[in-house]
Amino acid sequence: ALERGPVEVRFEDVGYAYPDGPQALHEVSVHIEPRSRVAVVGETGSGKSTFAKLLIRLADPTSGRVALGGVPLTDVPFASLRERVVMVPQDGFLFDTTIGENIVYGRPGATADDVERALHELGLEDWLAGLARGLDTPVGQRGEALSAGERQLVALARAYLADPDLLVLDEATSAVDPATEQRLQRALESAMRGRTAVSVAHRLSTAEAADRVLVFDGGRIVQQGSHDEL
Ligand code: ATP
Ligand code: MG
Repeated sequence: ALERGPVEVRFEDVGYAYPDGPQALHEVSVHIEPRSRVAVVGETGSGKSTFAKLLIRLADPTSGRVALGGVPLTDVPFASLRERVVMVPQDGFLFDTTIGENIVYGRPGATADDVERALHELGLEDWLAGLARGLDTPVGQRGEALSAGERQLVALARAYLADPDLLVLDEATSAVDPATEQRLQRALESAMRGRTAVSVAHRLSTAEAADRVLVFDGGRIVQQGSHDEL
């Protein structure tokens, strides 16, 4: 069985073809060490999001395999996977309710105190204090009452509250105002500390802060190393 704690990930000769679609990944082999931070970069269509999808088992490889802590992902029960691996999607998916409810969704049964503690640990209490209704602030349909950056903050707080062993991030490409950007950076830093983290990176700073950068091109990893080496 899969033990709790910082986890390693292994892709062994992974190929993936979308049904009626292109072969999006070819022979991807990579070992991600426990607690390490990996950034995934590459041109549009190079396979970055597909790689992220396979990590959280939104899809299964059409060839090869993905293993988490030595256990093939296909052998990890979904209930356990849902606790261990959490993704912050590109445009934070939010429910049409309050900020607090959206964050609690990360860990059913969490209290308002738990949510406030999580926001504190992420350095977001000043953001919370600036909201007219605090945790009771409605996010609106699809989170439209918030900015794109704030939606990512809520999605990140939700992921952090879930306390996953593997955190997968698909960075937002939309412009974020400088104040929110700074908060997001700091919160990401706290959220990734001590865990295995994989980020599809659009910011240079994310690649710079990573232990290793994987460069995708045409569905293959064509280069890997630290940001300085590349
Ligand atoms: P971007 O930087 O634009 O987000 P990406 O590197 O994340 O690009 P992927 O989304 O992984 O790229 O796409 C890899 C390939 O798979 C592309 O050719 C893309 O058109 C195709 N693809 C992605 N999603 C699907 C899908 N749901 N059905 C069919 N083909 C898809
Ligand atoms: Mg993508």
